Amino acid sequence: MPMTHNAAELEGEILQDLILNPAGFQGLEMRTGDVLRIIDVEGKQVAGVAFVYLHRKDEKLSAPNSLGLNRKAYPSLGYKFYSDEAKLMMTMTADTCGTHSIIAGACSSFMNELRYGDKHAHNCRDNFASALKSWGLGWKDIPYPLNVFMNVPVKSDGAYEIEFPLSKAGDYVDLTAEMDLLVAVSNCPQVRNKVNAHALKPIRLVQHRPK
Ligand SMILES: [Zn+2]
Repeated sequence: MPMTHNAAELEGEILQDLILNPAGFQGLEMRTGDVLRIIDVEGKQVAGVAFVYLHRKDEKLSAPNSLGLNRKAYPSLGYKFYSDEAKLMMTMTADTCGTHSIIAGACSSFMNELRYGDKHAHNCRDNFASALKSWGLGWKDIPYPLNVFMNVPVKSDGAYEIEFPLSKAGDYVDLTAEMDLLVAVSNCPQVRNKVNAHALKPIRLVQHRPK
């Protein structure tokens, strides 16, 4: 069973509280200690979260380093996210769902064209690039993300399939910044597979600075 946890109510300063509409995106800066709460408002909606070090943006989230240092394939409560230089970037400090992925990558025009013959659909890679454009980053500068609420089990025979999310309405995770970060969030716009249960729904973001 994945570890889950219901965090206490947020105390301190709420820096922003916003709804990402279906297929929406957001870029934001987090100071060390800030908490980003990502809430699945209706359930079964995935949010991609990609981040880099705010003050040297070529230091990026690394899924392989995070897997190796946590010795755990699936992020859940307490999971630590490391950079490509093995520096601690973020910790998952609350999780009411328990099922997420850091190995699924991101939907893109390229993958959509190969898999579905549709390279013009909205996708997470373009969302990340749009989210961080005003910080001067392009899509190749942005690492593959943590996918909150994404359910991609690896079977015992190695089989790997995207399944329906297990998140329920109101489920959330808290991500606490362990260094100053630039963060892009994509409300995943994929409807061609099970990732969002074939329907796009809102995601709520609350950025909070504890006292
Ligand atoms: Zn996506």
